[in-house]
Amino acid sequence: MDYIFVLVCVFAAIYGLCIGSFLNVVIYRLPLSMSLAKPSSHCPKCKHPIAWYDNIPVLSYLLLGGKCRNCGVHIPFRYTAVEIANGIMWLLCALIFWQQSIVTAVSSAFACSVLLSIFFIDLENMIIPDVLNLFLAICGVISIFGNDGVIWYSRLIGGAVGLAFFGLFKLGSLIILKKDGLGGGDVLLMGAAGLLLGWERLLLAVLFASVVGSVILIIIAYKTKDKDKPFPFAPFLCAGVTISLLFGNTIINWYTNLILGI
Ligand SMILES: [Zn+2]
Repeated sequence: MDYIFVLVCVFAAIYGLCIGSFLNVVIYRLPLSMSLAKPSSHCPKCKHPIAWYDNIPVLSYLLLGGKCRNCGVHIPFRYTAVEIANGIMWLLCALIFWQQSIVTAVSSAFACSVLLSIFFIDLENMIIPDVLNLFLAICGVISIFGNDGVIWYSRLIGGAVGLAFFGLFKLGSLIILKKDGLGGGDVLLMGAAGLLLGWERLLLAVLFASVVGSVILIIIAYKTKDKDKPFPFAPFLCAGVTISLLFGNTIINWYTNLILGI
């Protein structure tokens, strides 16, 4: 039993939960161009500052029954869900990558957090802040120095393919459909994702996003009357990129073995 590795995994999960708590601040304040540092966390209704002991990830939510201590207003479960999701993703990054490369584990963990933020910001505001795409690209550049079985030029090709393919898609929908099918933020997101994943895993991410995205949009189209209502695409991309980042190598190996029969 490798006790240090167990300890690393426990810490990754705990740090992941705490960073998840900060991501809630990012998701709420970044689209509003508010400072991330000040003011300190407060209740969205009564503006009462939240004490540190009421701001412990997951635990405080359970102890307070999902309510503000001061005014009793219901705090949406989404805040806790973001913390748990980030904690699980950081734990997975430690489990999957730590023993082969610490750099890969850390850059992947931060990339997952950026993707989680983009997921909710685009879902709720239909925008992707440039700074988050920049952070994702930086995670991609740092991961070049790690070891995840992806060759450095695969990342460059991935970045270029992501930008070019989605850039052309945006241009095409502007010219042919006379409407903006894709935001500029989505194009930059795919460029950064290509840099992070390498072109092979980028294809997997786009495939996942397209299939899951199509199914969900067909369901939404059946249920709503307003067919021209714009929809956010980045949440699907973020989910695809995250799955491809964590499990892409395993899935691609499994698939090539299946095809080649090795
Ligand atoms: Zn309150």
